[in-house]
Amino acid sequence: MRIAVSVCLLGEPCRYDGQSASCASVAQLGEEHILVPVCPEVMGGLPTPRDPSEIQMAAGRPEEVLNARRLDVTAWFRKGAEEAVSLALDQECVAAVLKQRSPSCGTSLVYDGTFSGTVVAGAGLTARLMRERGIPVFDESQIGDLLSFLGQEPSTC
Ligand code: SF4
Repeated sequence: MRIAVSVCLLGEPCRYDGQSASCASVAQLGEEHILVPVCPEVMGGLPTPRDPSEIQMAAGRPEEVLNARRLDVTAWFRKGAEEAVSLALDQECVAAVLKQRSPSCGTSLVYDGTFSGTVVAGAGLTARLMRERGIPVFDESQIGDLLSFLGQEPSTC
C-alpha cells in the first residue's frame, strides 16, 4: 500500500531549522509499503532553512500562519497543503504519517502562535486538508494504530 509521509521523518533535512526528524519506526514502514514523501512547506515554495511559523491559535485565527517575524505566510502553507494532498491522492495513498506539532503536518497538536513553546490541540493545514479529502492521518507515535488500520500486526522496535 502507499502511505504519504512527512519526509523529515525519513531523514530529509527540510525542517525550518535545516534539520531532519528521523524516526526509525516510520522508515521501517518502507519495508512493506511504498512511502510517498511530502514536505508541504517546501512544496509550497518556502526555502530551507526558514523562519519558524505558527498557526495563530491563541488569537482565534486557526487559518492564519505567521512566521516569527510576524510575516503572513499563510499562502505558502495553503499551496503546500494543496500540493501535498494532490500528490497523496494521485498516488492513491491510503493513509498519511505526519510530523506532530508542525503548522503544516501536526495531526492533533500545534504550537499556539505565540512563539512561546505553548502546544495546544489543533492540526496543521496539511493534516486538516488530508482529512477533509478522505486520507486518514497518523503521527509518528501512532505507527501501531496505523498498522492496525491497515490490518497488520504492530511490530515492536
Ligand atoms: Fe516535516 Fe512537514 Fe515541516 Fe516539511 S512541513 S519539515 S514534512 S513537518
